Amino acid sequence: MKYALIIPDGVADEPQASLGGRTPLQAARVPHMDTIARLGCVGRADNTPPSMPSGSDVATMSLFGYSPLQYHTGRAPLEAAAQGITLGPWDWAVRCNLVTIHDGIMVSFTAEQVPNDIGTQLIGLMQADSGSDRWEFIPGVSYRNLLIYRGRPEEPSPFGPGTKTTPPHDLTDGPVGDHLPQGTGSEILQNFMDQSIQVFAQRDLAGSHATQIWLWGQGQAPALTPFKPRFGVQGAMITAVDLLRGLARLLGWKVIDVPGATGYLDTDYAAKGRAAVQALDDVDLVVVHVEATDEASHEGNATAKVEALEQIDEHIVGPVLEKLRSLGEHRILISPDHPTFLRTKTHSYGFVPFATSGTGISPDASQTYDEASAAASRFEFLHGWDLMEQFIKGGWSAEAARSESKHK
Ligand SMILES: [Zn+2]
Repeated sequence: MKYALIIPDGVADEPQASLGGRTPLQAARVPHMDTIARLGCVGRADNTPPSMPSGSDVATMSLFGYSPLQYHTGRAPLEAAAQGITLGPWDWAVRCNLVTIHDGIMVSFTAEQVPNDIGTQLIGLMQADSGSDRWEFIPGVSYRNLLIYRGRPEEPSPFGPGTKTTPPHDLTDGPVGDHLPQGTGSEILQNFMDQSIQVFAQRDLAGSHATQIWLWGQGQAPALTPFKPRFGVQGAMITAVDLLRGLARLLGWKVIDVPGATGYLDTDYAAKGRAAVQALDDVDLVVVHVEATDEASHEGNATAKVEALEQIDEHIVGPVLEKLRSLGEHRILISPDHPTFLRTKTHSYGFVPFATSGTGISPDASQTYDEASAAASRFEFLHGWDLMEQFIKGGWSAEAARSESKHK
């Protein structure tokens, strides 16, 4: 059997006055997604445990069938995996932002989008000043860099569950004083951050707005069983987002880079669609993640969100569905990771709608793919990570829906 999962990031939303009281999914012309709803089943799943931050790293982990409560160890380990950095069992990865702080205020969590070459030089200065064979400052892209701790079994871990750090993007235009690292190992992180102020002040690089580093998102390698041993299916991932590339690597998926995939509204949808169609010849499961719908919500732009959805439907869902049909037995799943509300311009919590069709999936009553038809469905996954097992191996019928609702 061949499988496809298409993720319009953050597409789940509320009815919009500007769309005549409809949600973006209801307003968009998405004939292929609606076909999947009509020929198959619609339902809803909650991918974000209330105790965790709502974001693609958490919610996509759920969507891929892994409980983030069990397996999400922080953002930095996913980014390390995206960079091809392997973490041993005693190692830690820490996200190392280059930031601009003036008079105790977080002016920019990106150091005004610090250029790559300057970012690399600054991280190099930190490595020369404070790095060692145990603590490696590793340049990434722009303001997004890493600090890796190489641990030894006989030594106590520098950090733990009690280590608290704050994402700098949560502090924009606000005071940082109450949000410095706390708990286990916080003095280590604080020393590096203090040291970076001296180091950057001594070397005034032209064009640099970075006043210091900001350390956060620490974690160890997640101890997860890769996807194929777990579900019996070899996967491939198409995404422009680093965190998801890292997650795919940890799952043992092939990561396909598509030229023109930007992670933004101008992404080359058709190129992603073609890459997905091609990948289906090699692998059992192709996953296509599109960030543009989420970006439109962050900008509060309902029209752009609807347009992005229509592009996804035409250039990705349509061709992938056609290819799957030509290959014989298949299943397709459309689902966002988390809701991103146009109203608040930020990620939210709660159910997202999904639609699935294909071999062994008996049609339910749904005619369209949207939040309302999903809410009316009997397929409801309070633990979003149970959906993948059902998608790959489960039966989809009214009977299955009844047994599923019994688990609630
Ligand atoms: Zn987002």
